[in-house]
Amino acid sequence: MAMVNDEYEKMLQAFALAKNFLRQQVELGFDEVYTQVKTKKPTAKKEDGPVPTGLSDFYHEIKNCKKCHLYRTRTNFVFGVGNPEANLMLIGEAPGKEEDLQGEPFVGAAGKLLDRMLAAINFSREDVFIANILKCRPPENRDPRPDEIETCKPYLLEQIKLIQPKIICALGRISAQVLLQTKSALGQLRGEFHDFNGIKFLVTYHPAALLRYQQYKRPAWEDLKLLRKEYDKLKILAG
Ligand code: SF4
Repeated sequence: MAMVNDEYEKMLQAFALAKNFLRQQVELGFDEVYTQVKTKKPTAKKEDGPVPTGLSDFYHEIKNCKKCHLYRTRTNFVFGVGNPEANLMLIGEAPGKEEDLQGEPFVGAAGKLLDRMLAAINFSREDVFIANILKCRPPENRDPRPDEIETCKPYLLEQIKLIQPKIICALGRISAQVLLQTKSALGQLRGEFHDFNGIKFLVTYHPAALLRYQQYKRPAWEDLKLLRKEYDKLKILAG
């Protein structure tokens, strides 16, 4: 009898998980379900290159940076967060108010949406590494200025070098344009993979834009599915 109860309990838990997942999809505005959901964490392995041990050293090296005037108004330097050996790196533009207060990227409303977007394609924050082009918040959340980008960008490039991701996903127009060195609109850049120094590079909408504009949710969902598909393909290639 106890065994029957255990099985029943497991079934209820599975239903609850499925219900929660579907509710998240509806909240996100995604009108279909990603069908390759697995309960195990992705196990994609790096094929070559040393294990990056230098990321923490690099953080300590740059955490007190004063190379541009943004250090004067920051509360916290926002290095980035996640798996230092991630095969997927997400890159936004700059910390906002909450990120500046907490010292972590994507922790406000947009960050919560990003977590749900990741969960919708079976990733968690621990699977990926999240960073921004700028490590300090521009006042009033204005767009980063070209001189600030030029000064701070080498830090991001070094992070990419240390992490060696297989895929980069740019969140929003600014990180896409900065890294691809283009002025093309986000609508033209999204929906296909680009090359960034030999790394597959996808562009999609910034979660903050998805919170404001419902019409971007459908194409964002298409981008997420593309991202997951490519990630799984690389995982199979890596054996
Ligand atoms: S934005 Fe970048 S370059 Fe400017 S102070 Fe912060 S870490 Fe240094």
